[in-house]
Amino acid sequence: MEKKIPYKTYLDESEMPKQWYNLRADMKNKPAPLLNPGTLKPMTVDELEQVFCRELAEQELDDTTPYIDIPKEIQEFYKMYRPSPLVRAYCLEKALDTPAKIYYKFEGNNTSGSHKLNSAIAQAYYAKKQGLKGVTTETGAGQWGTALSMACAYMGLDCKVFMVKVSYEQKPFRREVMRTYGANVTPSPSDTTEVGRKILAEHPGTTGSLGCAISEAVEVAVGTPGYRYVLGSVLSQVLLHQSVIGLESKTAFDKIGVKPDIIIGCAGGGSNLGGLIAPFMREKLRGENDYRIIAVEPASCPSFTRGKYAYDFCDTGMVCPLAKMYTLGSGFIPSANHAGGLRYHGMSSVLSQLYHDGYIEATSVEQTSVFAAAEQFARTEGILPAPESSHAIRVAIDEALKCRETGEEKNIFFGLTGTGYFDMVAYEKFNNGEMSDYIPTDEDLEKGFAGIPDVNL
Ligand SMILES: *Cc1c(COP(=O)(O)O)cnc(C)c1O
Repeated sequence: MEKKIPYKTYLDESEMPKQWYNLRADMKNKPAPLLNPGTLKPMTVDELEQVFCRELAEQELDDTTPYIDIPKEIQEFYKMYRPSPLVRAYCLEKALDTPAKIYYKFEGNNTSGSHKLNSAIAQAYYAKKQGLKGVTTETGAGQWGTALSMACAYMGLDCKVFMVKVSYEQKPFRREVMRTYGANVTPSPSDTTEVGRKILAEHPGTTGSLGCAISEAVEVAVGTPGYRYVLGSVLSQVLLHQSVIGLESKTAFDKIGVKPDIIIGCAGGGSNLGGLIAPFMREKLRGENDYRIIAVEPASCPSFTRGKYAYDFCDTGMVCPLAKMYTLGSGFIPSANHAGGLRYHGMSSVLSQLYHDGYIEATSVEQTSVFAAAEQFARTEGILPAPESSHAIRVAIDEALKCRETGEEKNIFFGLTGTGYFDMVAYEKFNNGEMSDYIPTDEDLEKGFAGIPDVNL
């Protein structure tokens, strides 16, 4: 008789990871180095240290150390909201009438409502350890800004957040959560920075973008003594911190004696997906085990599926290092009706290399189908998912439905990155039947590609 898998598999505190796993160490083809935008030479730790704090700059450039100790203080903080459960989605399976077995790792069990806190606390910790006064950052939908505000409050650091103007206006509650945790929140573009004033002069009335908010945050960090810049996704250091998601999942799967066949994650800048797959990808890279890994992105912001693999700017103001990644061009902005997050123009250089080398697949989904999946999930599993997470839910459901056709009992595993309580305006649109899909035309994409610099050797 088949052994009954529990609804939730928790780990004991003693089974929580004590080291992060650095995927790059096992990659034969390393991700291409970050380039200094002035000299086009690979960035050094000393150069990166102008923007990031020292230890994070070192982690950013470390392609060889497989395991990095999680400092005790961070392990303690993690215990406030981790380990996160690995859930067997029995109710969803029943609703889908599928022989597939569906599992998800739920990262929404903290006030910021997403996985972003895993890296926020690490970045705040290293800044504090270096004796800094504070950090600056950007936030789009607000999850990262919230996570960072919580982490800074805990560490006693000042936190300056540039929030994309359209979100600042449309998500006043997110803004107030950040302020409650002590952060200073400025709508971007603002007139408080040079780059903000320049963008405002060129595009009066703009509602802002992530790339633009990044430029403002970097300018303030570099120009204010005792401050550094932090970023919630895309960077290799962020994928490193997010490996706790995958490491916990792997331990839990080993405990119940299950091996996932398909691993699915939504991909914005790639941090949750990179963390989720880390220990599984390790086995795949070493030829010890095989997994099918699927990155899911919005059809309206299709970096993997329709982007170019090239060195590009990470921000609109072109002040950050150049990264080689799948990109839509730093000037790309998804159409105004796009509601589901995951709107960054580029993708983690680690995941880009793995995708380029054929270790991961990518697919894109349209937002009305994403919200339909979100609704089905909420009604069966109870959790109201973030729109970002729902991209992964969509593909997990589709794969489970394929199993219904073929009768295969595949183990499908996806990352449920967060909750969607601050996204009710998007849910309202969907519920009212007012949500539409927009897929950029090739001409739309060409405009973004035109801004990719000509440094591709
Ligand atoms: C930020 C965010 C994402 C996307 O970011 P990645 O770096 O691609 O993981 C996904 N889900 C939620 C809930 C988020 O807040």
